[in-house]
Amino acid sequence: MADKFDVVVIGGGPGGYAAAIRCAQKKASVALVEKEFMGGTCLNCGCIPSKALLGSVHFMTLAKHAPLMGIKLGSVQPDWPKMQARKDAIIMGFRKGVTGLVRSNGVKIFEGTGIATAPGKVRVDSNSGSTEIEAKSIILATGSVPINIPAFPFDGQTIISSKEALSLGQIPDSLVIIGGGVIGCELACVYVTMGTKVTIIEALDRLLPNEDGWVGAMLEKELKKLGIESMTSKKVTGVQAAGGKAAISLESGESLEAEKVLVAVGRKAICDEETVKALSLKMDSSKVVVNGKMETSAAGVYAIGDAVGTTYLAHGAFAEAEVAADNTLGHEKTMGDYSLVPRAVYTFPEVASVGKNEQKCAEMGIETVVGKAMFKSNGRSIAHNENIGEIRVIRNKANDQIMGVTMVGAIVTELACAARAMIGSKENILDVVFAHPTVSEVLKEAWEDAFGISLHVPPRKM
Ligand code: FAD
Ligand code: NAD
Repeated sequence: MADKFDVVVIGGGPGGYAAAIRCAQKKASVALVEKEFMGGTCLNCGCIPSKALLGSVHFMTLAKHAPLMGIKLGSVQPDWPKMQARKDAIIMGFRKGVTGLVRSNGVKIFEGTGIATAPGKVRVDSNSGSTEIEAKSIILATGSVPINIPAFPFDGQTIISSKEALSLGQIPDSLVIIGGGVIGCELACVYVTMGTKVTIIEALDRLLPNEDGWVGAMLEKELKKLGIESMTSKKVTGVQAAGGKAAISLESGESLEAEKVLVAVGRKAICDEETVKALSLKMDSSKVVVNGKMETSAAGVYAIGDAVGTTYLAHGAFAEAEVAADNTLGHEKTMGDYSLVPRAVYTFPEVASVGKNEQKCAEMGIETVVGKAMFKSNGRSIAHNENIGEIRVIRNKANDQIMGVTMVGAIVTELACAARAMIGSKENILDVVFAHPTVSEVLKEAWEDAFGISLHVPPRKM
């Protein structure tokens, strides 16, 4: 006899475990099927391990500035095996924590591969055989995989994905990163600090091409100061791996050599073929098609997170999990404006944005006024010797609505939620009190500057 639940969730990443816990909190009986590790990509080979390594190397970059800060230190030496061990311990701790959390909410975890064989029916395949589960609703949260370039596929040794790049046994002498997006830029910061010669090759005309042009230009300049070479508007035509080295050829006729090649050209949504066929799911390439309620084309079947390819972000998956969880329980919830999902990149300096950027507003024909404030004029940033970057606040000239905020600077990822909250607030910026001296005052200055009323930005014509 099949086990029966209100909801079965396939996938235990941020989307899946969040949906399972929310459903359980709302008194549904819930099963969660995970074929590998609880926490998914984010916890095991994504957000958390990358930030753990960035945390270690950030510490090193700070230590290098010790003399300037009036502190004498001995030589600062990285210990890669210890950094790796620390990262692995963080993963293990959180993996145990998430598993315990899910269980403590009364969710039954099934270890194995979950295949939806019909609406309301899931088969779990594991080493010990197959089990049938029945549920009123199914939530697909099966995630994504790194995009492979068929002309030079991943070999796991020389041509690697972010998964291997987070766990290399030894620091490579040289690393070519194909793709100057989020993963490429973050991991470049890790390896350059470890002494690797890092070159990023980006097909478009700037790093982080989804952000406004000034962001990519500023980031390229700052990464160069760290020793990272960026080659933009360049296409790789081939990679030959042999004898522990790779020869990389570019369309321009140039060629490079490197010990490792990290291919970071995006991720691809994934959902098991058998599930797609059995449910006759409407697909957009590899993405499961959903409506604003996260409903798929099959009755009672929802899909969320990377599997639907909307944000490819953990917090995007969390947000979609909330919506799907509510709807499985008979509520009417829809995803809001996706542009209001903050974007945060943990490079040195960091990049964060929320809302519509200048380029998007221009494409939409919206006339804007852009308020700007620099970290070099901020007391706390100077005091901490972290004074690179600026914040831009984009105002719709016609109706004064704030369209978006884009930030480059030391801890701007931590300001992303403040920017998001302020976009949603009706409060006048002049009435919002910021603590002094804080880095967040730069956000206030840029916001006021968008209205021409900043105290510390010199007056200018609107
Ligand atoms: P996943 O986390 O991929 O989880 C899917 C789960 O489903 C997996 O555990 C998988 O084993 C399981 N599964 C798949 N099919 C089945 C099946 N048939 N049966 C059972 N289980 C199945 N995002 C951020 O927001 N911030 C960051 O800083 C960040 N950094 C990143 C760094 C890297 C290097 C990478 C690669 C990604 C990063 N991301 C980041 C993206 C983030 O990891 C993903 O957006 C997020 O994990 C998506 O969550 P998900 O639940 O949709 O899918
Ligand atoms: P991405 O979309 O951020 O960047 C891929 C880059 O590769 C783009 O700039 C693209 O123009 C470039 N590109 C594509 N094909 C190319 C080619 N043949 N040659 C050279 N350049 C090429 O993707 P990613 O960096 O692989 O990251 C995948 C996803 O993981 C992201 O969409 C992001 O949502 C998520 N992620 C998020 C974070 C974060 O939030 N801090 C960190 C890492 C990953």
